[in-house]
Amino acid sequence: MVVMTQSSIFTRIIEREIPADVVYEDDRVIAFNDIAPQAPVHVVVVPKTADYANVVELAAADPGLLAHVVGVAKRVADERANGEFRLVFNTGESAGQTVFHAHAHVLAGGLAEGTLGSK
Ligand code: 5GP
Repeated sequence: MVVMTQSSIFTRIIEREIPADVVYEDDRVIAFNDIAPQAPVHVVVVPKTADYANVVELAAADPGLLAHVVGVAKRVADERANGEFRLVFNTGESAGQTVFHAHAHVLAGGLAEGTLGSK
């Protein structure tokens, strides 16, 4: 039986079905500016595979790919800020996850001390 599942918005960006402001791409990940930025620099780093719904699944199945996501986050922070950054993986609806295709938020460029979120 063939089960058709709808592509996530991130798969549609990877496939260039919808546009995004891409800041980095290689064979394993794509990184682009978040459409609703929560910090002066807000880039989403997304593994190209849609196999993992969140960072827990990604870490368990492919820790090397997770390490690559972290390395790309550092690269983005070096290029777009001073190399310092906050890395956020919303995991689950009640934690604010809206796209169930594993991804990291890179937040940088002057963040308030003593806060974890934007508020
Ligand atoms: P989550 O809430 O799942 O952790 O993160 C999803 C992120 O994707 C949100 O910060 C949201 O603003 C961003 N986003 C959703 N749709 C689009 C889109 O079409 N383009 C871009 N660039 N970002 C998107």
